[in-house]
Amino acid sequence: MYQPPLPEKFNHLFQAEAVELISFYKQQLAERMVILGHHYQRDDIIQFADFTGDSLKLSQLAAREKDAEFIVFCGVHFMAESADILSAEHQKVFLPDVSAGCSMADMAEIDQVEQCGEILQQQLPHPEKLIPVTYINSSAAVKAFCGRHNGLCCTSSNCLAVFEFLWQRDPKTVVLFLPDEHLGRNTAYRYGITLDDMALWDPYEPSGAVAAEQLAHSRMVLWKGFCSVHQEFTCEQIHKARGEDPDVNVIVHPECCFEVAQLADYVGSTEYIIKTIRAARPGTNWVVGTEINLVNRLAREMKQRNIKVRSLSECPCLCETMYRIDLPHLAWLLDNLYQHCLAPDKNPFVNQIIVDEVTKRYAHQALAKMIQLTAVPVD
Ligand code: SF4
Repeated sequence: MYQPPLPEKFNHLFQAEAVELISFYKQQLAERMVILGHHYQRDDIIQFADFTGDSLKLSQLAAREKDAEFIVFCGVHFMAESADILSAEHQKVFLPDVSAGCSMADMAEIDQVEQCGEILQQQLPHPEKLIPVTYINSSAAVKAFCGRHNGLCCTSSNCLAVFEFLWQRDPKTVVLFLPDEHLGRNTAYRYGITLDDMALWDPYEPSGAVAAEQLAHSRMVLWKGFCSVHQEFTCEQIHKARGEDPDVNVIVHPECCFEVAQLADYVGSTEYIIKTIRAARPGTNWVVGTEINLVNRLAREMKQRNIKVRSLSECPCLCETMYRIDLPHLAWLLDNLYQHCLAPDKNPFVNQIIVDEVTKRYAHQALAKMIQLTAVPVD
């Protein structure tokens, strides 16, 4: 989405001025507003977050904060959409910079997904066994596609539980997994599905470049999408870290590729990575394959317990779109909310994220099914 340039006043704010302004608006808006900060956000934004966490946890927390009519999501576009889907009718969701998208979510456009669904319905030997599952890192439209077709969402924390539910209910289920091939492959392999029984659907090739004979025995069709941050981690980096310290612990996110996940000592979601390192013994050494802002915060936190934490990669693996949420954009958005409260007619909202009613209804089904199935805890 297009983010218009900020008014002059906000474009040239010094950091201290922005901090002062945001603190002022936060105090004025008080319980009418809640600010959510995703784990991958930069520190100067996290300092203002009422809650930090992964995207689902934050959306659920926001929905629970019924007094907050304004939910300011410092994350990316699909996260704000999920918050709009899960929040109450009187709550409004805002993204400080609407151009903060997610490259992975953008790799599955709804027209391509609809077309894939139609072709699979024609080519699968038992089309009634097809269940679409989408990673929460996807557009509301893709979530709604899953809701409409008896499917559901998953997170990197509960993906295995979702697969267990589907394949234990019916081992002949064929899962269409969107939009991250790596999370789908890593998790299905962990469940016991062989690589030969997974097909890779390329939306830019005719029939996804999947042969009908391959589909005949596939138990999973993986959408060819990936996270531009997590694909930066490599096996060579793991070998190098182990060469420097044979006792090093390698922990990576399941959005990393199959080979990296196989080589790592631990694989899990951001929440899992945080919990595992916080529970580590003093004197241990960790290299982490996930976004750099989270890794740096963990490194600072663990230093006092003599636990060494650093990124697996020597180049900073940064979520560039998340990085677009900065102090000037947050100050500008909060200024708008404040001015709106003073004179609603003169100050219409900016950057509100609204999912249309039909999409919302089906996307909500896909999310609610996951929440019900896996009892996602909110703490
Ligand atoms: S880290 Fe990757 S999956 Fe997460 S928002 Fe950024 S691009 Fe998307």
